[in-house]
Amino acid sequence: MSDTFHLPQRILMGPGPSDVPPRVLAAMAQPTIGHLDPAFMLLMNGICDQLRAVFCTSNQLTLPMSGTGSAGMETLFANLVEPGDKALICVNGVFGARMADVAERCGAEVHRIETPWGRIFPQEEIVAAIDRVRPAVVAIVHAETSTGAHQPIDGLGAAVRERGALLLVDCVTSLGGAPVEVDAWQIDAAYSGTQKCLSCPPGLSPVTLSPRAVERLERRKTKVQSWYLDLAMIRKYWGAERVYHHTAPINMLYGLHEALRAVLEEGLTARWKRHRAMHNLLRAGLAELGIRYVSQEGHHLPMLNAVAIPKGLEDATARRRLLDDYGIEIGAGLGDFKGNAWRIGLMGHSATRRNVTLLLSALKEMLGR
Ligand SMILES: *Cc1c(COP(=O)(O)O)cnc(C)c1O
Repeated sequence: MSDTFHLPQRILMGPGPSDVPPRVLAAMAQPTIGHLDPAFMLLMNGICDQLRAVFCTSNQLTLPMSGTGSAGMETLFANLVEPGDKALICVNGVFGARMADVAERCGAEVHRIETPWGRIFPQEEIVAAIDRVRPAVVAIVHAETSTGAHQPIDGLGAAVRERGALLLVDCVTSLGGAPVEVDAWQIDAAYSGTQKCLSCPPGLSPVTLSPRAVERLERRKTKVQSWYLDLAMIRKYWGAERVYHHTAPINMLYGLHEALRAVLEEGLTARWKRHRAMHNLLRAGLAELGIRYVSQEGHHLPMLNAVAIPKGLEDATARRRLLDDYGIEIGAGLGDFKGNAWRIGLMGHSATRRNVTLLLSALKEMLGR
């Protein structure tokens, strides 16, 4: 027999997970019922409606995949790409690179365009690449959590649609923290994760597919290579037929339902405003401490602040001290930014004035000011 596990009290201000509100944890602690129980079916319907509201879409095919954000990524490529299809992937950080890897594993002929870390892609550059490559799908990350860059998406959907391709967007970090308007922006398929701005524990990946994407799905000549992620079967469990595919992670779904309730109670616009306001507060405080952003000016993500490590502090030691002495978790740099940058998250329930003030005071103390 092992001892009970001691959990320290933490404030999660990294790149995810974010702090989970007690009401979500309480929902998850409710008794497990069957995954085909009529009461559970009602909950499932409710979640699909909530997700449509949060994604700002009327897409019929909107549901949470079992698995983390990467499962959503893999779901879109596995279902919307057939072997030999051309995929244009925009890479300016870890998650764009991951999309290229996943698309390749799904048999796509991958064409990458790249821009330096921390920078966004100008739309003309993407459109020029589409005209050159003539891809079946174009994939881009809306909120690059590895670099803090906030990619504009709103004009891209129309350009992609005009050229007959599908637009796939990674909204893992943006959903619930900044506008993600799937219908208005003409996004064909998007995925997210629960542990970032939705403030639910990790474990589910909301996805949404436009009627054009569904058509592509239905016209496939080959079977989806992944049995587990095959939307043709999964949509039969989430739809009217309720055909068993795999056992839904029941208690996780209780949690997601409550987390989405919290998001919609606050209101999307109010929530986007709160994230923006807390980002502005943090940015002003960091500027006073001489800490600068590494992401492109004018395109900083509100929920993920990528900043240069302040002079006088050593990366790992300082992050460890924040954790041990103040209970605050922030994120290290990833990839090109490893050892050069920190990633300060202000996601969902973590984006509060209390947290911003505490982190700024802690940094001030550590810098000896
Ligand atoms: C976190 C994240 C992912 C991956 O999500 P996991 O839940 O870690 O699998 C994908 N894309 C972006 C932009 C992310 O921030």
